[in-house]
Amino acid sequence: MMNNNEMLLLKLGEVVLKGLNRRSFEDKLVSNVRRRLKSCGSFQVYIRQSTIYVEPTTENCDMEAAYAAARQVFGVVSVARAVPCEKTMEAIVETAKTYLADAFAAARSFKVESKRADKNFPMNSIQISQAVGGDLAELFPHVAVDVHHPDLTVYVEIREKYAYVHAPSVPGAGGLPVGMGGHAVSLLSGGLDSPVSSWMMARRGVELEMVHFVSPPYTSQQAQNKVLELAHLLTAYCGRMIVHIVPFTEIQEEIRRNCPEEYFTLIMRRFMMRLAEAVAKKAGAKALITGESLGQVASQTMMALGVTEDVTTMPVLRPLIGMDKVEIIRIAREIGTYDTSILPYEDCCTVFTPRHPCTRPHLEDVRKAESALDVDALVAKALEGETWVRVKP
Ligand code: ATP
Ligand code: MG
Repeated sequence: MMNNNEMLLLKLGEVVLKGLNRRSFEDKLVSNVRRRLKSCGSFQVYIRQSTIYVEPTTENCDMEAAYAAARQVFGVVSVARAVPCEKTMEAIVETAKTYLADAFAAARSFKVESKRADKNFPMNSIQISQAVGGDLAELFPHVAVDVHHPDLTVYVEIREKYAYVHAPSVPGAGGLPVGMGGHAVSLLSGGLDSPVSSWMMARRGVELEMVHFVSPPYTSQQAQNKVLELAHLLTAYCGRMIVHIVPFTEIQEEIRRNCPEEYFTLIMRRFMMRLAEAVAKKAGAKALITGESLGQVASQTMMALGVTEDVTTMPVLRPLIGMDKVEIIRIAREIGTYDTSILPYEDCCTVFTPRHPCTRPHLEDVRKAESALDVDALVAKALEGETWVRVKP
């Protein structure tokens, strides 16, 4: 399927959006698509009637790459590679014949499905399908018309300026355009869960900024690189992002020295929330995101989550809270983070794991245990050591 005029048609999701929302949805989406396709060549990107048109403006555009990239942009529900032609039956049939020649060669049956966005066009969609289908049946006598279960469906869309011919579209990433859902800080570890939770919130239009806690020398540079690679994989969906690296060694050592072992993880989690909130406030972000899933580990029981959340006033978004590990793994594979997540590097969470963590902690007990520490000073010092990296697609 090669054609010099080939372009992309992107269909928008969330049709329930109305009025101003719809407008900002469309504006955001067009600018996100433009930005993400820049690396694939020079394209004209514009929107008409809930369809985004992506037209190459030079010969050397990488259509394969553009097609793959467009499928990863949140807010796009489907992507089709299409070819425009004159709005005449002859031109439409000729275009389908050449553009879909390979698909016809492989098919035993076909049908034509038409859409008439231009209501001034003299034929209705049924008439268009019949006319185009009849001509194509004559041109490809080995391929039978089958309107119920065809191997190949030829799509014809009559739009403002041109008619468009394409084979079936493929699903896009869905959701809302990044930037429409606010700005949040996501706690990104090297595990399986947090890349998935980040992706899920980005799909709801949230612009992400990452925070990652490191505990050298207990955690290695490789472990940190792995997290940066996970962030890099996420940029295919979210666009560029900042990853804040916050030193966590001293906090962990102080906890180990001064607090009861059964509360190690919980107190550590409370520090993570405090630090993440501070980073979020500085960045103007309005929520925190974690990869917690109810009951997955001792620090993710309902009581433990309450103890963790106690130190922040920001909403803590936990998109994986009701999901099984199997479902999380399925998504990780789908979005391409799985292979990196399972690389065997240590995380600061696994450095000082208590032998018998408390699974039914009471807030007062944890607060009391924590009072052995100079919390404010430790937080301030960790923030002083914060560095950041800008990760690009
Ligand atoms: P993950 O698979 O994402 O590591 P997990 O099941 O191992 O999650 P925990 O290690 O208890 O769970 O961490 C819970 C959440 O806390 C993570 O999903 C992540 O959002 C955050 N988190 C844990 N460790 C770090 C870290 N080193 N830096 C930033 N966030 C972290
Ligand atoms: Mg972890």
